[in-house]
Amino acid sequence: MQIIVQKFGGTSVATDEGRSRAAAKVIKAIEEGYSVVVVVSAMGRKGEPYATDSLIHLAKDIEKQVDSRELDLLVSCGEIISTVVMAQTLEKRGHAAIALTGGQAGVLTDQNFGEAQIIGINPENILRHLGEGKVVVVAGFQGITAGGDITTLGRGGSDTTATALGAALEAKMVEIYTDVDGVMTVDPRIIPDAKILRELTYQEICEMANQGAKVVHPRAVAIARDKKVPVKVKSTFSDDGGTLIHEGKASRIITGIAHQTGLGLVLVKGKNGQLTSEDPVKVFKKLAESSISVDMNSVSTGQVSFIVKQESLGKTGDLLLPFGYDVELLPHTAKIALIGTGMQDVPGIMVRVVETLHKHRIRLLQTVDSEITISCLVLESQISEAIKVLYHEFGL
Ligand code: ADP
Ligand code: MG
Repeated sequence: MQIIVQKFGGTSVATDEGRSRAAAKVIKAIEEGYSVVVVVSAMGRKGEPYATDSLIHLAKDIEKQVDSRELDLLVSCGEIISTVVMAQTLEKRGHAAIALTGGQAGVLTDQNFGEAQIIGINPENILRHLGEGKVVVVAGFQGITAGGDITTLGRGGSDTTATALGAALEAKMVEIYTDVDGVMTVDPRIIPDAKILRELTYQEICEMANQGAKVVHPRAVAIARDKKVPVKVKSTFSDDGGTLIHEGKASRIITGIAHQTGLGLVLVKGKNGQLTSEDPVKVFKKLAESSISVDMNSVSTGQVSFIVKQESLGKTGDLLLPFGYDVELLPHTAKIALIGTGMQDVPGIMVRVVETLHKHRIRLLQTVDSEITISCLVLESQISEAIKVLYHEFGL
């Protein structure tokens, strides 16, 4: 049995038209001789009746504080509704299909409600139904604990379900269907004529996803990389060949640009302009104890600086207050990351980045680089402009 996993995101399953197109992709794979496992997200985006966000409101409108177990149970319904609607769409077209919850599909997780980690997959049930010639439609983004509670996997969770199932079922391919033709050099919502990347290595896509390229979730591509499952990112709405993600060697200097908004910059200085070598330890320890994750850290003799999520900025300030430091908080910042596995061998890229931003009067607040990434922090109000000028500078 040759298995293929096809995941359809929220926009793909939201409308009759989207579901028809999704069904056509499934039927094409069946006709090519594959046994097909379909993973679906909840139908639609913010404001639409069965979207994740709308379900959350059902409970939060009664009382803001909702128990995390109950919230997961509620939210999981979105994907379950999708499975039945999708299975029914396939049945109508003459293909036997069965809808399964994450738990019924054998997705076992820990008990970390809202951000659960997959700890194992028992593929027995899926394999049995595939063996009976059915298309198996699995609810993405969810699993079940050893104790039988339904959990959800956090943002981008359906991508994770798809690659985890692909690995467990030793699928020939995991296809992530979405509303764009593939992975582009930069978010097409900002640069509509961004080029499609036909092939990407696991290393390139993992870095792009980690740096905020929303098209696939970091955890999902990490699983694909570790288990060496080939992944294709394609559009539900076109016949474009999409992007193939596999092992292999990248030859590009710069692959693309990713970005993240909703960040805040924290600058910590000593009252007399000096910090002891123990001060950075105190700062980072305090934040770690409160589960605030930091990024773009920089430590020098007079200053410690880093970024946190915008929503944690106030709390970060409060936590550092008792130490008596001079703390400056800059809200509404955004990070732009230039990613390329070949850039380590090419000098002068940093200069071009800094010069380009300077020439266009984009205020550079902080930079951090690794072997394959240069990240720049700018004001959120300047992020689109920053992406545009770097996109043109590097001919992406
Ligand atoms: P889905 O609901 O199918 O999971 P997502 O909204 O999670 O869809 O992901 C698709 C979106 O990712 C696209 O509409 C696009 O705006 C965004 N995106 C961000 N960066 C990129 C990129 N480099 N290439 C393609 N799409 C990107
Ligand atoms: Mg997604």
